[in-house]
Amino acid sequence: MEAKLHLPELFGSQVFSEETMKERLSSASYGAWKRCVTEGTSLDISTANEIAEAMKQWAVAKGATHFTHWFQPMTGVTAEKHDSFITPAGGGKIIMEFSGKELVRGEPDASSFPSGGLRATFEARGYTAWDPTSFAFIKEDSLCIPTIFCSYSGHALDKKTPLLRSMDEVSRQAIRILRLFGDTETKRVTAQVGPEQEYFLIDKELYSRRKDLQMTGRTLFGAKPPRGQELEDHYFGAIKPRVAAYMKDLDETLWALGVLSKTKHNEVAPSQHEMAPIYSDANTACDHNQLAMEMMKKVADRHGLVCLLHEKPFAGVNGSGKHDNWSLGTDTGRNLFKPGSTPSQNARFLLFLAAFIKGVDDYQDFLRTTVATAGNDHRLGAQEAPPAVLSIFLGDELNAVVESIIHGTHYTDAEKKMLKVGVDVLPAVRQDNTDRNRTSPMAFTGNKFEFRMLGSSQSVSGPNIALNTIMAEELEQFADQLEKAEDFQTALHQLVKKTFTEHQRIIFNGNGYEDAWLQEAERRGLSNLKSTADALPAYIAPKNIELFVKHGIYTEEEVRARYEIHVENYATVISIEAKTMIDMIRHDILPAVSNYAADLCARADSKKRMDVPCAYEINTAKCVAEITDHLMEECRILASDLEDMPAGPEEAMRYCHNTLIPDMDIARSSVDALEVLTAAGYWPMPVYSQLLFSV
Ligand code: ADP
Ligand code: MG
Repeated sequence: MEAKLHLPELFGSQVFSEETMKERLSSASYGAWKRCVTEGTSLDISTANEIAEAMKQWAVAKGATHFTHWFQPMTGVTAEKHDSFITPAGGGKIIMEFSGKELVRGEPDASSFPSGGLRATFEARGYTAWDPTSFAFIKEDSLCIPTIFCSYSGHALDKKTPLLRSMDEVSRQAIRILRLFGDTETKRVTAQVGPEQEYFLIDKELYSRRKDLQMTGRTLFGAKPPRGQELEDHYFGAIKPRVAAYMKDLDETLWALGVLSKTKHNEVAPSQHEMAPIYSDANTACDHNQLAMEMMKKVADRHGLVCLLHEKPFAGVNGSGKHDNWSLGTDTGRNLFKPGSTPSQNARFLLFLAAFIKGVDDYQDFLRTTVATAGNDHRLGAQEAPPAVLSIFLGDELNAVVESIIHGTHYTDAEKKMLKVGVDVLPAVRQDNTDRNRTSPMAFTGNKFEFRMLGSSQSVSGPNIALNTIMAEELEQFADQLEKAEDFQTALHQLVKKTFTEHQRIIFNGNGYEDAWLQEAERRGLSNLKSTADALPAYIAPKNIELFVKHGIYTEEEVRARYEIHVENYATVISIEAKTMIDMIRHDILPAVSNYAADLCARADSKKRMDVPCAYEINTAKCVAEITDHLMEECRILASDLEDMPAGPEEAMRYCHNTLIPDMDIARSSVDALEVLTAAGYWPMPVYSQLLFSV
């Protein structure tokens, strides 16, 4: 019989957690680590040596043989290079060693990671440095040490460094505001993130027969199956045994790694599911989301399944996104986006709300760029995910509060029990504000904002770097004004009123999927950057560069480097898709349909000789052959256009969007028409009904 799972023991069993450190370190070393984490002090080498030794003993006792610095280069996934603990000890023997130096700093060859030109190839080395705010853990017999990744000249080459910088910055500015409200206790404000992760599960054997899934993560062809998500029976539906076994294994794997996997359910599309963890600080949340994505794939493999994290694996059914729930919390346990129970807390809440609203309005274009990828272009604005236009949903009640402040009217709602009326002129806000709106890109959900535009495969660090930095900027502007004010209450009220008035255009509480909204958004002057090619140039708009440089998140070079990486990534993804398409059309699809047509003709021929009617064979063969010839020509055009790809990265991005994607759309529709006509035995790959309903 299987041993019963004891969850509290399993949870974090593979993590060198704070508790483990307390147990295994001298109190001096533990104290030094704690100060390093909470106050940003540095660790001396003897402390680092002691921590390394304790980590090694703990890891070796758990069967680890290697260690690796685990970092997040600008590929969007994680990187690791494993070194074993072995050191020769004479006489052909070894001992297991791991030093403080190895813990704190590594020097991987950085030359093959994207750097956007930041690292000249002659200076190939980069270095990794331990991030002591994220716990080390054991994964597949390796002790993994979360690290940042920089070039020798000190430029960030990863997604963690700027995230940590942005967390510090938003904390610093938020504390200035808290001091104005008489809070002398709070030492640190933490950006808190809970990322909900969607994914598809399909059968591994079927996957192995789809080159497109293997090469690009999505199907490049596939006619609509007789049934998609129309019955709306999959969302929250009963979980099938094979999926349930997968989810259980995934949960246990994640729990051992200290990931707070909390919620699992079926999503809207057939074969689509979701996992949501309990929120944590933004840095841990990003690390854990990376781990979760990795484990989702690895655990699937153990179950004869493949986990697809692509934003749009299948046309015609919903794609996958990631909801980034974001808030600010104090080290005294307060959530700054929770309407309070006292007038002063309410005023503070309204000020943070105003800063957020202004920030999203001021930097809507930049926020849009943080979710701009080739994969996500299939979702945004396609009636299954928010439109490409940023707006904020507040819910009826909070919206009424904002309106009353703007118009200076008295806000009361006799039917609802209100909290105490706020500071003189600021109205009270009810605490459980739980309106729901699934179409909004940025929804207030009671005590946090839910940024819903993210793609399922992307790292959550980019969007959170942006949210933190934007918030830091607005809080800084507010603090600058309020610190100078003679009468804080009056200045506060004026500031809140002015901000709501000037930025009300970004608030939208209606249905974001309707065309009417896009027209309204245009009247309001909101930016509608429909595709990645349209959006990315905003990444380097002067005001956006200025924002990040001013707050020390990126240097101008770093912003431009990241821009280049995103631009190149887009063109690379599209050209891989185009090449895969050409390959499949030439090597699999054209030969298969030609066979089919030939067999039909042969059969028609023999029927004719026997004087048997053969209209079916002849008509089908004619249809197939006609589309086949079109397809041959469409494929030739695609291949020739692909050859003409411009050399400059920006031109290439536009060219992919304007020329290659339309070429691919045309070829796809011919292939899908052929799939519908072709007898099952001839079609060279599994079709949608098999892929979507096999698990
Ligand atoms: P849904 O949006 O699907 O209703 P939940 O209400 O369960 O889902 O919340 C979604 C995510 O939001 C979870 O990861 C949860 O931990 C996270 N979350 C809850 N409160 C906060 C908060 N204050 N800050 C950030 N994330 C939060
Ligand atoms: Mg949600």
